[in-house]
Amino acid sequence: MKVLVAVKRVVDYKVQIRVKSDNTGVETQNVKMSVNPPDENAIEEAVKLKEQGLASETIAVSIGDEKTQDVLRTSMAMGIDRSILVKSQNPLEPLAVAKTLKKIVEKENPDLVLMGKQAIDDDSNQTGQILSALLNWPQGCFISSLKIEGNKVLISREIDEGIENLETKLPAVLTCDLRLNTPRFASLPNIMKAKKKPLDMIDIDTLEIDTSTKIKTLKVIEPPKRKAGVMVNDVKELVEKLKYEAKVI
Ligand code: AMP
Repeated sequence: MKVLVAVKRVVDYKVQIRVKSDNTGVETQNVKMSVNPPDENAIEEAVKLKEQGLASETIAVSIGDEKTQDVLRTSMAMGIDRSILVKSQNPLEPLAVAKTLKKIVEKENPDLVLMGKQAIDDDSNQTGQILSALLNWPQGCFISSLKIEGNKVLISREIDEGIENLETKLPAVLTCDLRLNTPRFASLPNIMKAKKKPLDMIDIDTLEIDTSTKIKTLKVIEPPKRKAGVMVNDVKELVEKLKYEAKVI
């Protein structure tokens, strides 16, 4: 079984996001960038499948500019065998990302595509679902457990009512939730080894897909600052304030 993992380079989750001074977007210059957190769960699961002897090869793919090589090296330091960078100077919307990933799937013929449930920069939560539709493959979204038995894929996912257990077949697209596993840290020897692992680069223009944007960003602004809170002495005062000042009850 060949496993393809989609990895996005995003602003590190610990960084305080700043809006660009011209209000055209979020500042990414001189900001720490990292692997999108749920994609780390996808990487970890792929590496585990290889360690269990279920996966024969694991491949990470990312779409982004030259700097995106760093997240692919991190993926390989975590245990991924080889990587593909699809070079694109412009950030892409989920539809364009899914179309690009479809091309890579057609080239590499994986049996399983693992992705994050969503990217923490745009919080779209769309790419996995669109990819499965374009490939006409079954999808399992927000998976929190995975078991593969032959061609059978057994997954669990958290829904409002509790845990839903589903069964589907390979090939499939699965999007990973943070509960799926605990991603390993890349050790120094593995970081060194990852430098020698293959990283192929493809120019997005050679894939002949329509990557035009469908959404126009008018302006990006900071959310309004939160006002300071008010301390109340007792429940009576709280209820009065909610009733007569805030008029919410
Ligand atoms: P989104 O639909 O943007 O929330 O992203 C969902 C998932 O799609 C991410 O967790 C990644 O696994 C994958 N993905 C999104 N954008 C990219 C990209 N530029 N390169 C590789 N994978 C991506």
